Amino acid sequence: MRPFISTMPFPEALTLALDATIPISRTEHVALGAADGRVVSHDVVSPLDVPPFDRSAMDGYAVQSADLKSASASAPVALMCVARIFTGEVSIGELRSGECIQIATGAPMPNGADAVVMVEETAEGIAEVGTVLFTVPAKMQQNIGRRAADIAVGAPVVTRGQVLTPSRIGALAATGHRTVEVFAKPTVAIVSTGNEVVQPGLPLPPGHIYDINRFTLEAVARRHGGAPVALASPGDSLDELMRVLDAAMAHDLIVFSGGSSVGDRDLVRDVIAERGEMLFHGIAVKPGKPTAFAVLDNPTTTSGVVSPSSRQREFPRPTVETPVAGLKAKRLPRSLFIGMPGNPTSCLSNAYILMVPVLRKLAGLPAWEPRTVTVPLARRIISASDRHQFYTVRLVNGQAEPAFKGSGDITSMANADGYMEIPATTESIGAGTMVTVTLF
Ligand code: AMP
Ligand code: MG
Repeated sequence: MRPFISTMPFPEALTLALDATIPISRTEHVALGAADGRVVSHDVVSPLDVPPFDRSAMDGYAVQSADLKSASASAPVALMCVARIFTGEVSIGELRSGECIQIATGAPMPNGADAVVMVEETAEGIAEVGTVLFTVPAKMQQNIGRRAADIAVGAPVVTRGQVLTPSRIGALAATGHRTVEVFAKPTVAIVSTGNEVVQPGLPLPPGHIYDINRFTLEAVARRHGGAPVALASPGDSLDELMRVLDAAMAHDLIVFSGGSSVGDRDLVRDVIAERGEMLFHGIAVKPGKPTAFAVLDNPTTTSGVVSPSSRQREFPRPTVETPVAGLKAKRLPRSLFIGMPGNPTSCLSNAYILMVPVLRKLAGLPAWEPRTVTVPLARRIISASDRHQFYTVRLVNGQAEPAFKGSGDITSMANADGYMEIPATTESIGAGTMVTVTLF
């Protein structure tokens, strides 16, 4: 066993990680139908007026307001209805005094009209066929949606950095955009390391376990703006880890789980030493202490091939020299690396507190603001830890019920609704104490 060099307080670790995170600059065009939640990369201005013409805001009659000055229920004004305008039509004639035109909501206003009276304020004329009786006066411009009232030509529709929502997508559609340019989703290589890890669906040999972390990490990455890609699990050998790490360097963020601790086979530290700079290894949190963060500089020549000298210097391995097919051209100059503990709860907990902030900054998304509730603690918690604890709880009848079993138990989280934080200096929290729970 090799001891940790040090553990770092979590706030300091997070600051270091975020300072090293450079928001993505790659962009892509996406169809509006796929744009929800994406981050706009360029200001978009409107090429047209919305609405593109003056239109009726009501089903009713287009009139000249001057004709209806004296209209009342006891003395209605009769106007001759000379035409009908449906939506999608344009009237060619000109409304004259004494006339009205039946008009549908959204239909273009006819020339000569300056108001719309809604159908509920009219009656069909009985005295003269084709007349309409108006029982209230009309104000000039009433019930008319003016051209450009919504968006004027040249006005901003969405701006760089905005997260697309249904309504912003609607504004893009209103201005005739079929696609929008957004920041690419950071790709997240997810690598579950360990000789014992088997993919669900395959038979489970003795001594093996199913891969949990791949799926929890993928789900978290997807929820927070990332495009996760799970790579094949490497076993616990320097060579396999190195090979997968080099393949992973086509991705913006690389998240390994397992092997980040201090066991003889926990080799992540050695692999990172070969490829970049470790900013921290070991954070003072529970669960999740053996967590590493590094910045990897891609050691490629201009042709994009891993420099063999740098690899072979410390880890000679004659048999595996073929670079992973298709990845050469895609290598990124710089990737971020998070080494997560293998224990599923530790891994997922740190995904929430560390990977999410990093990924969201990479993606250009605003910081995540999880919901919190403050409720009484149902049972006393004793905390022997000298680390800041993220302690999972379940909300039962308005109280926080301790849910934490162990770092290795996924049900510590699966059966919880959120977590409370217990500072390193706190030894116990009594039943009934009001605690703030951050909801998952
Ligand atoms: P490690 O961090 O590699 O020392 O692993 C700590 C514990 O987590 C061990 O019991 C591993 O078997 C378990 N573990 C590691 N990776 C995974 C994974 N992907 N899914 C579930 N359990 C894992
Ligand atoms: Mg392991």
